[in-house]
Amino acid sequence: MSHSLSPVMQNAALKVMGLDWSFMALPCSADDLASVLKGLEAVGCRGLNVTIPHKQAVSLLCKELSPLAQRLGAVNTLTPLPRGGWHGHNTDVEGFLAPLLQNHPDWSERRAVVVGCGGSARAVVAGLQDVNPSEITIVGRRAETLEPFCSSLQQGRPTNAVRLQPLLNNDPQLQTRIQQADLVVNTTPIGMSSHQPDQGPALPLGEDIWNNLSAHTVLYDLIYTPRPTPWLQRGETLGCRTYDGLEMLVQQGAAALRRWSGIDEIPVDVMRKAALKNLSHS
Ligand code: NAP
Repeated sequence: MSHSLSPVMQNAALKVMGLDWSFMALPCSADDLASVLKGLEAVGCRGLNVTIPHKQAVSLLCKELSPLAQRLGAVNTLTPLPRGGWHGHNTDVEGFLAPLLQNHPDWSERRAVVVGCGGSARAVVAGLQDVNPSEITIVGRRAETLEPFCSSLQQGRPTNAVRLQPLLNNDPQLQTRIQQADLVVNTTPIGMSSHQPDQGPALPLGEDIWNNLSAHTVLYDLIYTPRPTPWLQRGETLGCRTYDGLEMLVQQGAAALRRWSGIDEIPVDVMRKAALKNLSHS
């Protein structure tokens, strides 16, 4: 929370838009979440973002949820309702898809692998389900989190929708799935600046599995510190197209501001520049 880039991005955009609002980061414990929401409503707050670890808990405190937030069971953007209470939505999905669709509009008949099955992976998988690839494999290290993750995101999907395929990270099929993938998304924190060598290898799924990566595979890392991550550096040396998580962060913030302000034209460039400037100083 203390290093969140959201205040610098949002405040830079608000200034350019001429809106007399201010975006600030508020630390909040799980026990205080409900009273903080009530307090913000009482003071006329125009909207808020909620981040880990509160995205799921806050969805239960919203009076109304968008269909997407309902499907994910996770909310990152709240907007006040005219008759009181909060509307909850999730802009992480839009943020994740924005850079991907800009450069690769058609994912049908493509194979995707998502590494990790935590909070951000929910938005990633929901986004991929919407672009209809032929295969979505989710790689996790523990069956007890991987299986419920896949079944909850499969629930309520049309019968002809792509089936999520859970795969444990020690499964012998993993190498082939990676080699055949058109897209691999890292949603684990492996490779973040804070990652220590004693926490394991600096690349998700270890070093060796990436040796035979095909140059046609797109690599997308949700991490944006460092830029590029060791995994994306490896991909670049193999000729792969790579994306880090900065654009996802910028685009989810822009989508939230669009909702709060009701203004379609958000100065995304200004937000991106503010985020980059802040990162270069940190
Ligand atoms: P999370 O809910 O804790 O999920 C992390 C996932 O990674 C879990 O499936 C976890 O497995 C797995 N994992 C963690 N350490 C691992 C290891 N050493 N080996 C194998 N698997 C491991 O975290 P999150 O909120 O999804 O965030 C994940 C990353 O995405 C963070 O780096 C975060 O900064 C980034 N992120 C970026 C954006 C953006 O806008 N760019 C947005 C959200 C998150 P277990 O369940 O077994 O622990």
